[in-house]
This record gives sequence, C-alpha cells and structure tokens, in this order.
Amino acid sequence: MPFSELTEALNLLEEQGLRRQRHVLKSSQGARIMVGGMNCLSFSSNDYLGLANHTALIDTLKSAAAQYGVGAGASHLVGGHMAPHHQLEETLARFTGQQAALLFSTGYMANLGIVSALVGRDDEIFADKLNHASLNDAALLSRAKHTRYPHLGLPLLEKRLAASKARRKLVVTDAVFSMDGDIAPVPELLALCERYDALLLLDDAHGFGVLGSTGRGVLEHFGVASSDRIIYMATLGKAAGVFGAFVAGPAEMVDYLVQRARTYMYTTAMPPALAAALSTSLRLIENEAWRQARLRQLIATLKQGLKLERWRLMESITPIQPIIIGTNKETLAVSEALRKRHICVPAIRPPTVPKGEARLRISLSAAHSDADIARLVEALNALERTI
Ligand SMILES: *Cc1c(COP(=O)(O)O)cnc(C)c1O
Repeated sequence: MPFSELTEALNLLEEQGLRRQRHVLKSSQGARIMVGGMNCLSFSSNDYLGLANHTALIDTLKSAAAQYGVGAGASHLVGGHMAPHHQLEETLARFTGQQAALLFSTGYMANLGIVSALVGRDDEIFADKLNHASLNDAALLSRAKHTRYPHLGLPLLEKRLAASKARRKLVVTDAVFSMDGDIAPVPELLALCERYDALLLLDDAHGFGVLGSTGRGVLEHFGVASSDRIIYMATLGKAAGVFGAFVAGPAEMVDYLVQRARTYMYTTAMPPALAAALSTSLRLIENEAWRQARLRQLIATLKQGLKLERWRLMESITPIQPIIIGTNKETLAVSEALRKRHICVPAIRPPTVPKGEARLRISLSAAHSDADIARLVEALNALERTI
C-alpha cells in the first residue's frame, strides 16, 4: 500500500487531537456566517474591518471584470501587468508613505520572493521564534544562515547581530504576531538594525488597515518615519478584505525585486478585478477611519467582560485576542461547546503554536455589534466553570 505510512500518520494526529477539519462556509464572511449547515456568530476570520463583503468592493469587482475580464493571462513581466495592478501599486506606495510598492499574489509568495531575492548563502537572517510559517520557509529557500531569537528577545538578537560576520544581515519579524496578537517593538528593532548595519523586514499582515489612527499599519502605530533600512510587507486578504500582498520601500529595492523575486516573476498576475476592488478598499480605509476606532472599542469591551480564572486572555491591543487553554483536547472541547452555542472560534494547536499552549483565537471585526461581544463573553465565562 503506497500510502499506508500516511494513514498511520493521520491516525496518530487523530489520537493527539491534532487532526484538522475544514468546515464548509456557505455564506460570505461577516459577523454572521453559515457553516456546517448552521448559522454562526463568527470570531474566526481576519476580515478585521468587515470589508470582505462590502457592497462598494463588490460593485468595483463587477465593473472591473466587465472592463478587464477575469484572468490576467500572464505574469507581470510578460504582458499581465494591467492598469488596475499598476494603479493599486501607486496607491499602496502613497498610502504607506513609501517610495514604491510591488504587488504579489499572496503574502506567502511575497515573503518567499522578498527574502530569497535579498539574501543568499553568505548572508544571515535573524528571525523571531514566533514568525509566520511563510517567513521560516522563505529563510530556508534563501539558503542564508537562519538564526532564530526568542520571541521579542532583543538582548539576544543584539548579541547575535554583534557576533555576525555575514555579508548582509536581515532582521525579519511579524509586526503583529498572528497567533498571539502582540506587536513587535519596531523602533527598537530599527535602532538595532542601524547599529549593526542590518535590513529590517516587517510582515504587517495583521497590522495593515488596523493599526495606527488611520489604519496605515505598524509604522503609523509607532510613529516611525520610513527608513531606507525598512522593507515593509503586508497582505491584502485580511483587513483589506480581498486577496494578495505587497512590499513597499525604497524605489531601488522594489525595482530589484521586480528583477529578482522569483515568486513575482514566475507566476500569473492576480486577476485585475481584484486589484481594482483593492483600490476601493484602500479608499474606504483612508476615508472611513471609524472602523479602526470601532475595533478598539470592541477590544476594550471584550477585555472588561471576560472573568477568567483557569484560562488566560493574552496581552494584546490588536483584534487578535487569544485565550490560552493549554491542552489540545480541552481547547477543542471549548471550541466545540461554543459551536453548539452557534459561536465560531477556532482552536489553534501545535505546530501552529508551541506545545501546551493550545488556544482559542478570537478575532474581532468592526462588523461585530456590542451584543455579539456580550454573547461571546457570557459563553466563555460560563464554559470555563462547567467544561
Ligand atoms: C496570513 C499571513 C501571511 C500569508 O499571507 P497570505 O496572503 O494569506 O498568503 C504572511 N504573514 C503573516 C504574518 C500572515 O498572518
């Protein structure tokens, strides 16, 4: 049997409470979703601003598809670089206050492309232990030395930077950590990069559109001016509500990536109508800052309401509000009990998070009402005592 080893591996995952299930969604994303034949109050999406199902984006998508068709037909360098892509790149550069921006089809591909283009065998990557999987895979692909430092462990990072003899040094970090919701200390990281002549790649997948008073992301949050050491990357399938990713920074760096980032060069450009919808999304983010304020309000309401003793709400000012439960089995049981109450909160288990730190990952959206948060809080407070 060619796959008998795989069957054994699957059985082992099952025993450890680690076998993943996919639930089929039969509605759009939003505060209310239809999943597994059931209506559910959702805290499971990264659609932090409630834009994934916004009528203005849908209208733009429709009219852009009518004008430009559905498929881009080719890669950016071989005839697939269409007007909506180009306009979006210009908008992204202006919105982020950077010289230039480059569109990628996904965040995963952006990270692979950026890192493997900028560093190679004689170089060294310094990476936070809790970075997103795509950044770890990017480091492997680049063949650079991959030095991982403890989560937010700046003293150790500094030691490693000081000891490095690498030709080029690249510090890589999630700006907002996707399973913890905490924020990387960007000003301190930038200061280290200046002291040790390193570049700083920020993956702002969860900060873009959310952090800062106008949603411009982690740099706005810290009031950090753009710097020729910063490579700013963010995704467009989370708060921006659509799909894709981009990198922004010095024009030379961006042009170099056009020439050398293989996940940019050797893949079909994203459908042009998605790029058009993203331009509309950015306009909404820019002109309607109430969504960021609303999120902050909801986060405060959640924190005030939860009265947990055994479980622990993690320290986070972002819409990612994880509750550490501990074992895989209990975490799954809580997620299942919530599902029975028509509340969807995903159970996050190893290897996505460290062993023994299985958690519920609550993600809030500007589309939630106060009553939605109250329902979640009440369910969690009750379950902690009874499960
Ligand atoms: C989601 C995510 C990515 C990947 O982005 P996609 O566009 O979904 O491929 C990269 N980095 C971080 C930190 C993420 O959370």
